Amino acid sequence: MRNDEKNIDRFMLVLSSPSGAGKTALANKLLSVDNSFVLSVSVTTRTPRDGEVEGKDYFFVDDEEFSLMIKNNQLLEYATVFSNQYGTKSELVKQTIENGKNVIFDIDWQGVRQLKENVKTSSQLVTVFVLPPSISELNRRLKSRALDSEETLKKRMFEAEKEISHWVDYDYVIVNDDFERCFQDLYSIVQAEKLKKIRQKYLKKFTKYTL
Ligand code: 5GP
Repeated sequence: MRNDEKNIDRFMLVLSSPSGAGKTALANKLLSVDNSFVLSVSVTTRTPRDGEVEGKDYFFVDDEEFSLMIKNNQLLEYATVFSNQYGTKSELVKQTIENGKNVIFDIDWQGVRQLKENVKTSSQLVTVFVLPPSISELNRRLKSRALDSEETLKKRMFEAEKEISHWVDYDYVIVNDDFERCFQDLYSIVQAEKLKKIRQKYLKKFTKYTL
């Protein structure tokens, strides 16, 4: 059996959105209610924000370490976002899949493009774009988070509008107008993906009944 066939029942769920649209909260809720998922903790050159924990939110590295990881082919994808570098550790993803878990990614559209090229079986990748209810609501949410300076906030709004233009490249689009309802949408996607016949290994028992 080829390795990608062996792991066909696992999948890689990607959530992308402009910052402030709520994808991190959605990912955390999914992780808390469905233990088939493990978060892909990214590597970044950005400085940790208050409360962020090494190895849980990100692996924080300097530019030199990040370049070395690229050089040594240790990253499944990487991109520059808001002048900082972000990347996905290949080994972590591989290990998670081999341990029988699904992987959830919180990455941007540039990373999704690379994952599409690097993943052997396209059915293993499920991509979801989370839209905010409106641009003005996104602005309000980013301001109320008060994580960034005024200048960074402006930059984030500019980047957010750029990010939104990529929704069209995703398999699913959900709107985060009401968190619980939006989570139900995400959960329905997950349930439907798990029920795809390609992911249900036990169906093999029924192959003799196929016409
Ligand atoms: P933040 O600095 O707010 O945590 O993340 C900024 C942006 O970088 C978010 O849109 C997030 O999805 C994206 N990001 C985080 N980790 C990765 C990664 O490993 N790869 C890529 N391509 N984007 C990432």
